[in-house]
Amino acid sequence: AKRQGRNTFQFYTAEMNAVTLEKLRLENELRHALSRKELVLHYQPQVNLQTGQVIGVEALIRWKHPTMGMVSPAKFIPLAEESGLIVPIGEWVLREACQQSIRWQEMGLPALKMSVNLSALQFKKQDVAELVRLVLEETGLAPHLLDLEFTESLVMEDTEHILAVLASLKQIGVRLSVDDFGTGYSSLSYLKRFPVDTIKIDRAFVQSVHHTQEDAMLTRAIIALAHSMNLKTVAEGVETEAQLDFLMEHQCNEVQGFYFSRPLVVQDLEQLLLQRAHF
Ligand code: C2E
Ligand code: CA
Ligand code: CA
Ligand code: CA
Repeated sequence: AKRQGRNTFQFYTAEMNAVTLEKLRLENELRHALSRKELVLHYQPQVNLQTGQVIGVEALIRWKHPTMGMVSPAKFIPLAEESGLIVPIGEWVLREACQQSIRWQEMGLPALKMSVNLSALQFKKQDVAELVRLVLEETGLAPHLLDLEFTESLVMEDTEHILAVLASLKQIGVRLSVDDFGTGYSSLSYLKRFPVDTIKIDRAFVQSVHHTQEDAMLTRAIIALAHSMNLKTVAEGVETEAQLDFLMEHQCNEVQGFYFSRPLVVQDLEQLLLQRAHF
């Protein structure tokens, strides 16, 4: 057993080295991704459930690596956070998304809300409020058209600093959304303390509303709670008509998911908006 233990240990060491090396390699590649223009944004439509209209899009980052192909954000965002690269990458995302929004306005497309994901690290390592102010000024985008998404875990930290940054952002006039709501095991009391406009119900809830009674109840409760606090609800990960019916019945405000559209490249989103501005 002892020898087996040692072999196992060696096996894991070799394995870990391989994983570490792979990570280092990827991190090094990511370091150049920005300057090599390998990063691109896709946009997923958000649909108002009452009118069926596309009222906004969420910008989602993609990494087109020349040899590795498409690297999923699930893989490189954690790495970008560990290495701090999320700060310059996040800044690029914000600027690019705002510029794109203006390009659509200039094309005569109806003004859409632009949702941009912010990493917790951006709140800690840089003055996000100042950055947002600057980018809005540079691009000329109206603040109310920008919606910043941050995760529940950020507000759960509940520090004076984060509270102050969110207050400055609110002052600028942008909208604030809590992403992946329901996954953080948080007390809901923070919602009262933070100047949040919208909660995005995590797709884990949405996708199981017709499988488990508990999730259906939770989803219903989240929507009711949000509305009682004058918060808007967006359900993400809607894939089926049954999920859509459930969300409609319980008066969720907006939906996003493959049922309507996957995240699209700029041209495909433009096509969609020109052909069918509502569902
Ligand atoms: P998220 O912010 O929760 O984004 C929603 C994710 O759900 C996206 O995955 C989207 O493609 C996917 N999705 C949308 N509709 C459906 C559906 O109906 N079914 C299923 N199964 N999935 C759906 P994606 O694009 O792979 O992004 C993964 C995560 O990476 C995002 O989760 C977000 O946390 C992060 N991310 C993406 N772009 C950025 C960015 O620009 N900055 C930061 N900080 N994080 C980003
Ligand atoms: Ca998001
Ligand atoms: Ca989410
Ligand atoms: Ca998520």
